Amino acid sequence: MRRAGSLTAVVSDRYEDKGKAARTHPSRFDEEVVIIGGGLQGVTAALALAARGVRSRILEGRSELLRGASYRNEGKVHLGFVYALDESGVTARKMVEGALTFSDLIEGWCSEVDWHSNCSEGFDYCVVDSGLADATALGAHYEQVSSMIENASGALGDNYLGSSARVEPVRHRGSHALLAPGLSSDWFSTPERSVDPRALCAWLSAAATASPLVDVSTGVVVKGVVPIASGFALETVSGAGLERIEAETVLNCSWENRLELDRQALGKAPSACYRIKHQVLARGETEVDLAPLTLVQGPYGDLVSWPNGDVYVSWYPVARTFMGSSPSVGTEPDRDVAEATLEGLAAIVPALQGLEVVDHGAAWIVGEGEADIDETSSGLHARRAAEIDRQGGWWSLNGGKLTTAPLASELCVAELTGTEPKVATLESGLPR
Ligand SMILES: Cc1cc2nc3c(=O)[nH]c(=O)nc-3n(C[C@H](O)[C@H](O)[C@H](O)COP(=O)(O)OP(=O)(O)OC[C@H]3O[C@@H](n4cnc5c(N)ncnc54)[C@H](O)[C@@H]3O)c2cc1C
Repeated sequence: MRRAGSLTAVVSDRYEDKGKAARTHPSRFDEEVVIIGGGLQGVTAALALAARGVRSRILEGRSELLRGASYRNEGKVHLGFVYALDESGVTARKMVEGALTFSDLIEGWCSEVDWHSNCSEGFDYCVVDSGLADATALGAHYEQVSSMIENASGALGDNYLGSSARVEPVRHRGSHALLAPGLSSDWFSTPERSVDPRALCAWLSAAATASPLVDVSTGVVVKGVVPIASGFALETVSGAGLERIEAETVLNCSWENRLELDRQALGKAPSACYRIKHQVLARGETEVDLAPLTLVQGPYGDLVSWPNGDVYVSWYPVARTFMGSSPSVGTEPDRDVAEATLEGLAAIVPALQGLEVVDHGAAWIVGEGEADIDETSSGLHARRAAEIDRQGGWWSLNGGKLTTAPLASELCVAELTGTEPKVATLESGLPR
């Protein structure tokens, strides 16, 4: 196995610029880390390693980096508002922590970041009258989240996609102007926003490709793992055929295949619930003024409008096509599902009628529990923590959401290399 040799830390100047946690602890860790999976999780982990002078090699099964769930999502950097059914507040707090560290981390790793041209306006949360929670309960949750944001920003700062998250949600009585009548009697304007995932993926991909400490091997699928005396042997398949790659330290960021590879490496792994959700992007011939909307609280939908004119539409009853205990089917794009998703949301948001589907694809959502989103007990209503499992040289990482993935990478890599995280966290406790 190639060794990276003794390296001193290369700490991004951007952290210094921000004056934030600009600790230049060089890592004594001098092995190359093999990362399985080049999505948001794997790529941010590679960039966090590079920021400490540690070399990594990403093995990505697809022909390009960042074309899985990290490309095919809604890009909402959650502030916790949607997790009203987790009464413990833990999910909201995790989202606030992820959201308030997200932008500093991305800006520290990437040189091409333009939030302004690639982020939506704030989401309006429309309370569906027949939903799983009423406007009074939701209003109380939003107030609680707002004070979490206020308190957390003292420790974490308030760089939220280049803007501020410290804006209190406002309750508006009556139906939202974009909704068909008779569905909703209240809505809340919020500061929560979405970044176009295609732009985010492009910034990260450029940063990983430009880094001399990140080697990228695309089209390499890790089919199996065998523990060996010096670490792990990864059995891979690529255009070149079968190969065996030996590594002392492996970081498993393979999302839908993560637990199966953990099982082979460690002999055990917990179970999870796997859902396929479709990303549908639409456009009109003329630009329509569409505020980003989330219909709460239940199995409904979202719409996001980005500055380039693309509109993301989700209608949960149609866009979620598979649910099971293993990722046993493919995630091929499905035009019929895409059209039906747009049609489903357009029945509720009439301004969408006349838009055409311009792009679509599907990806995995890996979550807890077996109940679906229309049940209050569903694991989809709670994303409590990133999972970092480690044993010997095997590290396995699941940030849970786009929102929390960069922080999960930073914390995992700090632990792996014995260095300090480059952003503050809420580990000391956030008053609620
Ligand atoms: C439709 C949809 C909407 C979403 N909306 C949001 C949202 O608005 N906000 C939010 O916070 N989160 C959202 N999410 C969740 C978010 O997208 C994921 O949490 C996040 O992208 C996961 O990142 P990842 O890198 O772990 O996974 P991925 O991006 O899927 O990356 C995993 C990579 O590993 C590769 N891989 C897998 N197995 C192997 C193998 N055996 N060998 C080699 N390579 C392998 C894959 O090809 C892939 O590139 C959404 C998800 C979906 C599907």
